[in-house]
Amino acid sequence: MTPQNFDYIIIGGGLAGLQLALSFSEDPFFKDKQIAIIDPSSKNTNDKTWCFWEQGAGKWDSIITKSWETGRFITPDKNIKLALQPYSYKMLKSLNFYNYAKSNLELNSNFSFILDEIKTLNEEIGIAIGKSSSYKASHFFDSRITSNYLEDTHSTKIFQHFKGYEIEVETPFFDSSEFTMMDFRLKFKDSTSFTYVLPISSTKALVEYTFFTPFLVEESIYNEYLQTYLENILKIKDYRITETEKGVIPMTDHPFHKESTANLTKIGTAGSWVKGSTGYSFKHTEKKVAALINNLKQGNALEHNLLNNRSRFYDAIFLDVLANRNDMGEQLFTDFYSKNKPQDILKYLDEETGIKEEVKIMWSLYHPQFIKSFFRKLF
Ligand SMILES: Cc1cc2nc3c(=O)[nH]c(=O)nc-3n(C[C@H](O)[C@H](O)[C@H](O)COP(=O)(O)OP(=O)(O)OC[C@H]3O[C@@H](n4cnc5c(N)ncnc54)[C@H](O)[C@@H]3O)c2cc1C
Repeated sequence: MTPQNFDYIIIGGGLAGLQLALSFSEDPFFKDKQIAIIDPSSKNTNDKTWCFWEQGAGKWDSIITKSWETGRFITPDKNIKLALQPYSYKMLKSLNFYNYAKSNLELNSNFSFILDEIKTLNEEIGIAIGKSSSYKASHFFDSRITSNYLEDTHSTKIFQHFKGYEIEVETPFFDSSEFTMMDFRLKFKDSTSFTYVLPISSTKALVEYTFFTPFLVEESIYNEYLQTYLENILKIKDYRITETEKGVIPMTDHPFHKESTANLTKIGTAGSWVKGSTGYSFKHTEKKVAALINNLKQGNALEHNLLNNRSRFYDAIFLDVLANRNDMGEQLFTDFYSKNKPQDILKYLDEETGIKEEVKIMWSLYHPQFIKSFFRKLF
């Protein structure tokens, strides 16, 4: 079969693939490029809820479900109000994002959506072979995780894993002007585990039980902890579950991006775009896509300015601490949120701080375990 020809092929039309495609479509520089987005899924279910923060108005405001300017950080003996302005914390349902991306991209005749699963890729000769057909391109942007990161003994690996219930109650209960970033009042043994609450209205909220741990748990544990949190901590007796969400996000310093080559750029999780210490990637993806587009236009190496090595090192140390002393999570996050201003925290997590600001944040978390982890990660 003769392969179909494109200039660029984006393998995977998820978060990174669609953000990249949208940015190509918005830039006249790429109007003559033939671009394919190949994914086995037609992306017509709401498979995740993305939250991210940004200052002021943003690119996705027309499709967000809700935004908050105030958060809470809660432990058995602390309840810290996080006044985020000028930042706001925004919630976006993935289905709204997929529909928005598809309807915008379909207006451009140079974009093709192809339902196929890529099985082999030889970027040197520019050929990708899928289950149904084969495809030629001069450059591939690939969101498949092809490296076996679980077998990399040099990197630290923990998992952010969670289950969420979107619930509805009859009588108004939630204060929809505040979300709960982390509530440590209900922990699984002595692990780093907490509840995250996103009130959409006074009668509707997404409540997620979350772990940052080296282990995964049975489904029944999430259900038990969600029910206990709702009934014993929030004291809601009658609620209706309208949707559920589950996920596992790798929290690791594994260098996924090292699989990129001259004709292949790994993107998204597969390009190390998920921040190791938090599991967040939505906003990072927007910035990485902008850097990639700029590199293409300027003729720079595509990896130029894409990853921040200093931040990757801090993340690696933090992950090593959590991997070795998972019981320290509650104390570490309490120090993080009680000793720093929310704006400084968000700027740090956005990797926009200078060394002085970073030292201040590090110092607020100080524990001898960090010294051990620092040296372990240095060599
Ligand atoms: C449930 C969940 C909730 C999350 N919530 C947040 C959040 O609130 N905030 C945040 O910042 N981050 C969040 N994340 C982390 C991160 O933003 C997401 O995982 C994000 O989707 C990663 O983007 P991606 O493009 O790498 O992967 P994906 O969005 O998963 O896209 C990868 C695409 O590749 C396709 N694909 C796979 N194999 C092939 C193949 N062989 N050929 C062709 N296509 C293929 C898949 O079908 C998929 O569509 C969440 C993750 C999960 C799992």
